[in-house]
Amino acid sequence: MQEVIVIGGGVVGLTSAWWLLEAGFRVTLLERAAAVGTGASFRNGGQLSYRYVAPLADAGVPLKAVQWLLQKDGPLRFSLEGDPRQWSWLARFLFNCSRSANRRTTQQLLGLGELSRRAMAELNLPLAAFSWRDAGKLVVYRSPKVFTRAAALADAGETLTAQQCVTLEPALAASQSQLAGGIFTPGEAVADCHAFCEMLKARLLAHPNFLGVVHAEASALIARQGRIAGLATTSGVLSSDHYVLAAGMQSRELAATADMKLPIYPLKGYSLSAPIAAAHLAPEISVTDFERKVLYARIDRHLRVAAMVDLVGVDARIDQDRIDSLLRIARETMPQAADYAQAEPWAGLRPATPNSAPILGPSPYANLWLNVGHGPLGFTFACGSASVLSALMRGKPAPIALDGLLYRP
Ligand SMILES: Cc1cc2nc3c(=O)[nH]c(=O)nc-3n(C[C@H](O)[C@H](O)[C@H](O)COP(=O)(O)OP(=O)(O)OC[C@H]3O[C@@H](n4cnc5c(N)ncnc54)[C@H](O)[C@@H]3O)c2cc1C
Repeated sequence: MQEVIVIGGGVVGLTSAWWLLEAGFRVTLLERAAAVGTGASFRNGGQLSYRYVAPLADAGVPLKAVQWLLQKDGPLRFSLEGDPRQWSWLARFLFNCSRSANRRTTQQLLGLGELSRRAMAELNLPLAAFSWRDAGKLVVYRSPKVFTRAAALADAGETLTAQQCVTLEPALAASQSQLAGGIFTPGEAVADCHAFCEMLKARLLAHPNFLGVVHAEASALIARQGRIAGLATTSGVLSSDHYVLAAGMQSRELAATADMKLPIYPLKGYSLSAPIAAAHLAPEISVTDFERKVLYARIDRHLRVAAMVDLVGVDARIDQDRIDSLLRIARETMPQAADYAQAEPWAGLRPATPNSAPILGPSPYANLWLNVGHGPLGFTFACGSASVLSALMRGKPAPIALDGLLYRP
């Protein structure tokens, strides 16, 4: 039986480990933190957004980015680094800012999204234990022009007036006068990503072929003659038949130790988790405020508000200014939905590629496999990506077309 070390115990590494166990591998999980799911997977927006997958790069985004940078509570922050990896990522992002590139990648991601939806169902987990809800997704628009354009493209959703949005989701009542309309997509879900990670860990531990979680930090891939011969870690050198790189943002640094350049950049985002004060005043449906780029989701007894894309390098510290912005926006949009005075702030780094598509499967090394770069939708895509990885590692065809999802040196 072949052995594999999965590097990274976030949602992507944990799902990889599970699918590989089910495929007949003996699996070790390597995680540097004391617990799993405490990186980007900790308090993300909780959206399982299988159909709302369009990449961040699109026509018009560079111009909008300039406007966002000038707004006080705008969704974007940028600070120029002395790091050429930031410049090259930005150049590639700009290259992807066209309608045709956006449509092409959206089609690929829709395939991965549908696969992920099916793969999540196949897991057959007790849904309530990770607060999974088939909430549906309502995207609301403030500008009539932007709404009209979105409505013309809405192939999967139902177009609603501002009043219909509020009838469907009364938590938006305070914002009705500012809304142009909305698009509702049934079948999109929300869940607690961290609880999902904990549950997967429990499943791994109960599997007869699971060799255990090693809590150590990988520092280098030891490459020899086209293969990975070992993994240098704080617990010494570990070796295995195969290695899966699924270390979120840190994958970029680890890949570099074997001369691979992963085009991943940290898009820093924030969330608030505030206790719901009165159940009937909090949103039932998951809401995206399109122009402000803010997500609202009810996760168990909390309202999760997630937002912002800050290009400020590998720095997950909480900037109080950004939290204050998020609090202002949430209070204005859904004033009674939660007790914002008790809100717990969080910041995480989305490991993002320039076109928002993850990098899956083979690497230049015969026994090193990639499951990285899931950017803004890692929770959504984790199960599908893991099932692709396990098919490829067994030498089987991938369940979806992989154009645009493979590593290109
Ligand atoms: C504000 C925000 C909101 C988001 N909202 C959503 C959403 O609504 N829906 C959605 O689908 N996605 C969302 N995302 C994106 C999603 O959270 C990420 O894409 C996903 O968590 C990435 O998972 P990962 O396992 O690749 O990375 P991580 O969760 O960061 O896991 C990587 C793991 O590897 C470990 N590790 C790193 N380096 C090493 C090393 N050298 N040795 C050993 N272990 C190591 C880390 O400790 C960590 O546990 C959001 C992200 C943010 C920041």
